Amino acid sequence: MTLMIPFDNSYARLPDSFFARQAPVPVRAPQLIAFNNDLAQILRISPGDVPEMAETFAGNTLPDGAEPIAQLYSGHQFGNYNPQLGDGRAVLLGETVGADGLRRDIQLKGSGPTPFSRQGDGRAWLGPVLREYVVSEAMHALGIPTTRALAAVETGEVVRREEPMPGAVLTRVAQSHLRVGTFQVFAARGQMDSLHRLTEYAIERHYPGADGPMGLLRGVVQSQAELIAGWMSVGFIHGVMNTDNCSIAGETIDYGPCAFMDSYHPNTVFSSIDRMGRYAYSNQPDIAVWNVAQLATSLIQQMKDKDAAVEEATEIVHAMPDLLQKNWLRRFRAKIGLTTEDKGDEALISDLLTRMAQNQADFTNTFRALGGDKARDQFLNPEAFDEWSDGWQARLSQEGDPVATMTAANPAFIPRNHRVEQMIEAAVQGDYTPFHRLNTVLAQPYEDQPEADDLTRPPTKSEVVHATFCGT
Ligand code: AMP
Ligand code: MG
Repeated sequence: MTLMIPFDNSYARLPDSFFARQAPVPVRAPQLIAFNNDLAQILRISPGDVPEMAETFAGNTLPDGAEPIAQLYSGHQFGNYNPQLGDGRAVLLGETVGADGLRRDIQLKGSGPTPFSRQGDGRAWLGPVLREYVVSEAMHALGIPTTRALAAVETGEVVRREEPMPGAVLTRVAQSHLRVGTFQVFAARGQMDSLHRLTEYAIERHYPGADGPMGLLRGVVQSQAELIAGWMSVGFIHGVMNTDNCSIAGETIDYGPCAFMDSYHPNTVFSSIDRMGRYAYSNQPDIAVWNVAQLATSLIQQMKDKDAAVEEATEIVHAMPDLLQKNWLRRFRAKIGLTTEDKGDEALISDLLTRMAQNQADFTNTFRALGGDKARDQFLNPEAFDEWSDGWQARLSQEGDPVATMTAANPAFIPRNHRVEQMIEAAVQGDYTPFHRLNTVLAQPYEDQPEADDLTRPPTKSEVVHATFCGT
């Protein structure tokens, strides 16, 4: 068997100012950890034998048709503008048009230094590669837009972090790697031709039919509002919502110090570098609006009538909080079993969340248990749940089959942070059983899987992960 990837590379045909041509840097002794056959089928990739795939997805051999490039972008990191970021540890091999007609990027992450590496080594260690593999595939199975994982390899090399760690490369698949920061870099440099070309490209690829830069902005507002509501509904905290990690296609991208909440609290932060809580759970909708406002600011630069453009962009961005709220309400209504709308619903949901926060209720398990009679057990003081439940039951009497609605909206399984950490620790010791088990169970998050009951359990005191370090 020979690995075959049907490349059709549109980004590499854009002007040279958009990227640097950069081949992946070979590694010493690649070993294939995982290859995602289901995803490969969608991409119309025919798998090769294991050694060949290890070589390819480590970047040691270039598959036919690949045109490796490191993409240029900039972005706001924790609110401060960094004029040049770019792919410092990744190369885009190229794109394929899948069996579903969708064009997708195939990128190697951890593939060695590029002109954008700055002080970095261009590499990734095994931990963040496996984290991204498991969490992005789990996100997909949860039904939330995300980049995906096609393959993971160990490099056979050591990367120096706080301690020496095994190196690895992730093959990431995305509807594109266009970010808010891709627009910011040309706008900040005053490169209007490039900005204009990029805008056209993004419209054609992601929002066909959108009317110019403001049409694109409307599209991104919609898809980001949809995405963030999805995150909120499963208790996901991205951790680094910088503008360079904000996808124009509306996918979850760049899984670094991200995690799903165990016990619910709106101020939850995981990332060790987020000391101010800028990217805390409940701030995510506001930050998404802020990020889209940066896109608006960049897009406006190319408009002839600036005053009119500012007015239109302001109106579009100002409409986003309402849209977020609508999407949030739709998601959370389903989580408590509602398909109809009542003006008291928002207060009903907020009341439940407040009680959950006061009672350290597990986010995932509480919602999942609403379909049975055990939800009250999730509360330090179960009566706090009972008080809420009376009003809820009254409201539910207007519904047909609330249990089915809830089962479809409330996963039993999320990639709990302590399980992800345990999986990484095992893999570093050479044991990939937990990695494969997590992938198998998390592929069906809405199904009860009694044999995997241990994976629904929140961490014990000693298992709690206190900070998740940046994925570098
Ligand atoms: P991230 O935190 O993954 O969104 O990355 C932010 C920026 O830092 C991007 O431009 C990355 O390419 C770059 N970067 C992160 N880690 C490394 C590394 N090990 N070597 C080179 N560049 C890196
Ligand atoms: Mg990034």
